Amino acid sequence: MSDVQLHPVQDAWKERALIDKAQYDEMYKRSIDDPEGFWKEHMQRLDWIKEPTRIKAVNFEYPDISIKWFEDGELNVSANCIDRHLKDKGEQTAIIWEADSPDDEAQHISYQQLHAHVCKFANVLKEMGVSKGDRVVIYLPMIPQAAYAMLACARIGAVHSIVFAGFSPDALADRINDCDAKVLITADHAPRGGKKTPLKANADKALKKCGDDVKCLTVKRVGDDVDMQDGRDFWLHEMEETVGNDCDPVAMNAEDPLFILYTSGSTGKPKGVVHTSGGYLVWTSMTHELVFDYHPGDIYWCGADIGWVTGHSYIVYGPLANGATTLMFEGVPTYPDASRFWKVIEKHKVNQFYTAPTAIRALMGKGDSFVEGHDLSSLKVLGTVGEPINPEAWEWYFHKIGKGKTPIVDTWWQTETGGHLITPLPGATDLKPGSATNPFFGVKPVMLEAESGKVIEATEAEGVLAIADSWPGQMRTVYGDHERFANTYFQQYQGYYFSGDGARRDADGYYWITGRVDDVINVSGHRMGTAEVESALVSHPKVSEAAVVGYPHDVKGQGIYCYVTLMAGEEPSEELRNELRNHVREEIGPIASPDLIQFAPGLPKTRSGKIMRRILRKIAEDQYDSLGDTSTLAEPEVVDDLIVNHKDLK
Ligand code: ATP
Ligand code: MG
Repeated sequence: MSDVQLHPVQDAWKERALIDKAQYDEMYKRSIDDPEGFWKEHMQRLDWIKEPTRIKAVNFEYPDISIKWFEDGELNVSANCIDRHLKDKGEQTAIIWEADSPDDEAQHISYQQLHAHVCKFANVLKEMGVSKGDRVVIYLPMIPQAAYAMLACARIGAVHSIVFAGFSPDALADRINDCDAKVLITADHAPRGGKKTPLKANADKALKKCGDDVKCLTVKRVGDDVDMQDGRDFWLHEMEETVGNDCDPVAMNAEDPLFILYTSGSTGKPKGVVHTSGGYLVWTSMTHELVFDYHPGDIYWCGADIGWVTGHSYIVYGPLANGATTLMFEGVPTYPDASRFWKVIEKHKVNQFYTAPTAIRALMGKGDSFVEGHDLSSLKVLGTVGEPINPEAWEWYFHKIGKGKTPIVDTWWQTETGGHLITPLPGATDLKPGSATNPFFGVKPVMLEAESGKVIEATEAEGVLAIADSWPGQMRTVYGDHERFANTYFQQYQGYYFSGDGARRDADGYYWITGRVDDVINVSGHRMGTAEVESALVSHPKVSEAAVVGYPHDVKGQGIYCYVTLMAGEEPSEELRNELRNHVREEIGPIASPDLIQFAPGLPKTRSGKIMRRILRKIAEDQYDSLGDTSTLAEPEVVDDLIVNHKDLK
């Protein structure tokens, strides 16, 4: 990593920024020394129906884990995201909606219109028998109604659980049953990348596996025919005609659940992560404003799907709580071609853009011609999330997209954390490509020795990443299984929240996420993070993506197994294999030399774009029958190809 170049805060970023270095240092210190005082002040960013007097009540001691913030406060999340903006920003655009097809006209939904839609939607849900505390599963494409549905639930105190529109009927049924939902909200079809997913038909299949009392509400997105079952299925547009226009927001306790979201399942069976109302909204609104340096009037775009936590926190709740204009995109980065992102940025004059390293690498792999000729000068801040970003992709993003003029915020966080935990702030943090840099306010990261669990005091450290105290946006429990919550996150390293990620802290105190702790391999007694080998592979000009896992090796204990996707136009060959092997030897050293390299046109990914290494590990170990839960895979077909090619390789 010696060739990583430092990118100091530029003067222009400092001038614009809400927080500079001195402020960051002072605020961070205060947030750690006096969390009660700090959060008593910053909870004021929300409108409370009843202002909290009890700020923090937390027990991290296993097994009685209990996390409460603002516990005697009352608020309504939808009122914070909509009603309180009506006075000054009623006419301002809340949501810009860009459809899958560039030929469809974009929609601009003002806060006033958002209010009207959400009230109607909430009344429809009430009409269908939903009341405070009931669960509602949302299985929708990236359409404005998805945001209306979330906010309508929040308005009446129902708990939503969003399931990716790309998930199968089985995955959907599991989630409906796990949370015992009363209503499923879906659409006739979901257009995406020029194709259509038959959502309602999937929902019908799923509902066969659910209780008879689950009702289904369908949004007309495409207009094609779908089956409607009398007494169970309702059209949203028809229901809306039968209900009133006004719906008062319900007063909710700060600790009442806002939503359940199942993790992406890259390491195991998905967990129903529960987030509550007050702390979550304080956290998402504050991080959204400060991390993206959001100023009133900015056009902000997070390219995630609402089916994963990034969409919850940084398309809907954080931005709308801040009265922002948030862009919602129905499509994919490569449809109609690989210039779509840049076209959307140009068209809507986007100021902040947030996406995943996997998307950046994929677009980089298509070549620069797709970027050229687009006016990206509106951009002020770029962001990444989801995985460590390799320095090559970082530099490409910085130079080709940001034209060397915009900071990149590499935000480390998890479904469980609600929002960003370790991240640069645009005006405060000198950037190092590949490092998520420093903790956000109130976050106390610690490095622990993996085996002993001892805290590593030295600044320079390598180990597992844990958090020593709670922050308001933290998850509160696993739905219906508090024991699993305590066991998963608090048992192994007692007294800490254990992230499951490994990290390195450099001499400047910067954090570098090295991947999941279980992605560390032991080659002839040397422990190394698979992310390091992956980073070396993708630094080769012919490689677009790489995933590395360990496999049993007679001599070395574990061998290094690399799955490699090549750049467009490159052909696999034995020569290239050798070239890549030598390249890794040069970049890291002979110890990291790949034992097996499998060329893979596609890698198994979650819908949020994360490589499912546990599946790759099983294939590398020849254990095809125990791939585990694959319900969250974006393209299950790639697994069969991988197995065939793996057998050929051996
Ligand atoms: P599951 O927990 O079900 O296995 P998951 O961990 O992939 O799924 P998420 O909560 O969506 O589900 O992802 C969080 C993980 O993503 C983090 O634990 C970390 O490994 C990785 N991650 C997120 N952001 C970054 C980042 N900026 N740098 C490095 N890694 C990141
Ligand atoms: Mg996880």
